[in-house]
Amino acid sequence: MIRQLEREMHAAATSTLNDWHRFKWDEARSAGFRGPAEAHLKATLQGGDTLARYDLAANEGVPRAVDHDLQMWGCVACNLCVTVCPNDAFFRLPTPAGSDLGSRQQYMVLAELCNECGNCMVFCPENGDPAQVKAKLYIDAGRFEAAGGNGFLLAAGDDQVAITARAGSESELPHLSELLNDPDEGLPLRIHDLAALAERSSG
Ligand code: SF4
Ligand code: SF4
Repeated sequence: MIRQLEREMHAAATSTLNDWHRFKWDEARSAGFRGPAEAHLKATLQGGDTLARYDLAANEGVPRAVDHDLQMWGCVACNLCVTVCPNDAFFRLPTPAGSDLGSRQQYMVLAELCNECGNCMVFCPENGDPAQVKAKLYIDAGRFEAAGGNGFLLAAGDDQVAITARAGSESELPHLSELLNDPDEGLPLRIHDLAALAERSSG
């Protein structure tokens, strides 16, 4: 469904869902319909095979599974955790050139946005819970100290993101620093602003 949507948005020269919806409404109305549903209904009643794409036969396959235990770095990089997270907690960064981290993309969790709903675990094809296994990044020191599991506290350094690892996660610091301080990509947040905000709200 997502691939189909991507193709249709591309064909309509739209880059956001809102624009694409507007395009579909304009298209239907300029063809004399009251909206896209009426256009679809008419095509179906006229014998068009408009429902075949999403029928049971096309979707009854077992979800893809990979017999591999999820690790903090490297995975099949299917991107599903980013797509299905309802809270925008997951993000990805390309693996820097020359890095020894597996796979072309690395996935991280913004811990303060994750409410542990479990959705990413349902969709992840590897064995394990992405929200617990992938690197959990905190902005708020209080929440970082109160939480368990892997964890990294981010702060604004002089010219780089300063990272503190929770006990047990220190060996991952060089990898995380390589990703978050990559000059071409790096952490997609304004850490100065967020760190100041976290300090004010806890103070
Ligand atoms: S468990 Fe956390 S990261 Fe995973 S989908 Fe839910 S909110 Fe998002
Ligand atoms: S869903 Fe799992 S395998 Fe896919 S990118 Fe996220 S962590 Fe990696």
